[in-house]
Amino acid sequence: MLFGGLEAGGTKMVCAIGDEKGNIIDQAKFPTDSPDICMPKMIEYFKKFDIKALGISCFGPVDLNKKHDTYGYILKTTKENWADYNIVGGFKEALNIPVGFDTDVNGACLGEAIYGAGKDLENVVYFTIGTGIGIGLYLNGKLHHGTMHTEGGHMYIKRHPKDNYEGICIFHKDCLEGLASGPAIEKRFGIKCEYIENNPNFMDIESYYLAQGVVNAILAYSPEKIILGGGVMHYPNLIEEVRRKTVELLNGYIQTREVLEDMDNYVVLPKLLDNAGTLGSLELARLEYEENRD
Ligand code: ZN
Repeated sequence: MLFGGLEAGGTKMVCAIGDEKGNIIDQAKFPTDSPDICMPKMIEYFKKFDIKALGISCFGPVDLNKKHDTYGYILKTTKENWADYNIVGGFKEALNIPVGFDTDVNGACLGEAIYGAGKDLENVVYFTIGTGIGIGLYLNGKLHHGTMHTEGGHMYIKRHPKDNYEGICIFHKDCLEGLASGPAIEKRFGIKCEYIENNPNFMDIESYYLAQGVVNAILAYSPEKIILGGGVMHYPNLIEEVRRKTVELLNGYIQTREVLEDMDNYVVLPKLLDNAGTLGSLELARLEYEENRD
């Protein structure tokens, strides 16, 4: 049985066809032009295959609440052409199949939870640390939503004593995203994260902030696995330092085997690399198909 997956990003739309076991059969990418240019191309692509449902992992903010009139819409976004756009409705009307919908970070979280680093677990927290910081939550075997979707990247954290950078978040300045995202690193050090070499300040400050994110996730959700993805995590040895500081900041309060003995397998990098979002989208499609069958 075939499903369609769409990873809708700010610069590109990654379309994929796969089966119910997560085997990717075909893939196509389109630039994220305005909907009137981009949607017909994607619809034409998906129509070439006999897919039973489509799953969309989408840049946000989005409305995920099925009780709302604006469910399936991209809400107020800086990508003006897509603001208030009914992306789920657009595909439903054209393809006439069930359409699953979630945020991009939840999509990647689902992919990792089902097929990647969180396989066979029911409680997984996924961080993406790149242009922004987002947190996907897979709790009790399901993606978590609530009134909208969580915005854990904007949690408030303690400032590093040596850091006097004000923070880049336009809402909060020095929230987690404001202090630890790729653009925050670039502003603070005057150089992109990937070009920073041998700067002990960078390692110390960045890992301190990310460790606080991890600590808060452990305290709030008691997850079975924490996955740290996104471009910033490609920095050599950053994850080791985040693990070390996480244990230090917890300071003996959490006495689980994972924290005391097994941090290397508890706080980990993603396994699926670039495919997490695509596999998550295909799983969103499969779940929506199952839900509509009942
Ligand atoms: Zn913020």
